[in-house]
Amino acid sequence: MVQNGFDGNWNSLLEQMGITDPATRQQWQMLAGMMNANQADTDTTDTRSRLARRARARKKLKRLQQEHKTLLARNDDLAAALGACPDCWGEFPGCQTCRGRGKPGNFPPEEAAFNDYVVPVLERLGLVQPDQPVAAKTTQGETES
Ligand SMILES: [Zn+2]
Repeated sequence: MVQNGFDGNWNSLLEQMGITDPATRQQWQMLAGMMNANQADTDTTDTRSRLARRARARKKLKRLQQEHKTLLARNDDLAAALGACPDCWGEFPGCQTCRGRGKPGNFPPEEAAFNDYVVPVLERLGLVQPDQPVAAKTTQGETES
């Protein structure tokens, strides 16, 4: 390893520095060994740090993928409840599912999703009574009364 012009050859460096005393050279050699050990520790720490960052990134990616999956399912359920295109909600003329015609109400709502998402809102607004089922043309059947 070359650092600051030092090629790692301590004997050569000590000779260039004019250090010939065996005891002093031995101390320098020990110091060199300690420095190399510190470098190895730093490398190990860097590797651990990098592995920890990767593990956190993988964990975050997995969490985001799970959230994405959950949101897609909720989007599909809500689109079904409202009779909308789950791919574009009628906002994309090039949509292969609806060709941009899939705004809410364009398709018959799915009964279960409608009952889960829409009926509680209608009840809240006082537009339907909880004990009176909503008459809706759904994919489950014809007009209910
Ligand atoms: Zn669409």
